[in-house]
Amino acid sequence: MNFNSHMDVVVASAVGLVNALTEGERRGRPYRLPDATARAEAATEVLRAVSRRAEITESQVGELTAIARELRVVFEAVAAGDLDAAAEQVNRLLEETQARPRLTRHDGEPWHIHFHGARDGLAAEWAAPCATGLAVVLGGELYDRLGVCTAPHCDRVYVDTSRNGMRRFCSTACQNRVKTAAFRARAQSRP
Ligand SMILES: [Zn+2]
Repeated sequence: MNFNSHMDVVVASAVGLVNALTEGERRGRPYRLPDATARAEAATEVLRAVSRRAEITESQVGELTAIARELRVVFEAVAAGDLDAAAEQVNRLLEETQARPRLTRHDGEPWHIHFHGARDGLAAEWAAPCATGLAVVLGGELYDRLGVCTAPHCDRVYVDTSRNGMRRFCSTACQNRVKTAAFRARAQSRP
């Protein structure tokens, strides 16, 4: 995609947080929230892609879990074709977090824009860049690239970074499940 590379990473991290921290279904099975320790580890791993110093503790992960639920609303609205609802949700998050652009340079990287919020709290701080990343997607030509997996019994989310924009599944695992099921259905319908 043509966002700047830092923004691509931020959008991917929003996807990662939603998939790790919201319950539902995953690749054909129920997905229940892991305990706080496992969630903190998963969230830290997701956010390390954005900042090498990211560290989410067990006491912070509850707040981050609530943020992930708010982010999920955006993906679900886009998947349902309700862009107005998606935009309203992003605007609400931008307002709540008071996201503000700031050029930073750290860890030997070139200057790039961070969007941290004005609120205190490490976990809350992540809502601002994630909401900004989603705002950049929704405000651009590739606004419909956010999605929810269309495979049966899966509601994990994705961002479609493919050239043709035809992605429908969260993973190749779900893509293969659907292909296999279609193949079986065709085989059974033959006399
Ligand atoms: Zn899936």
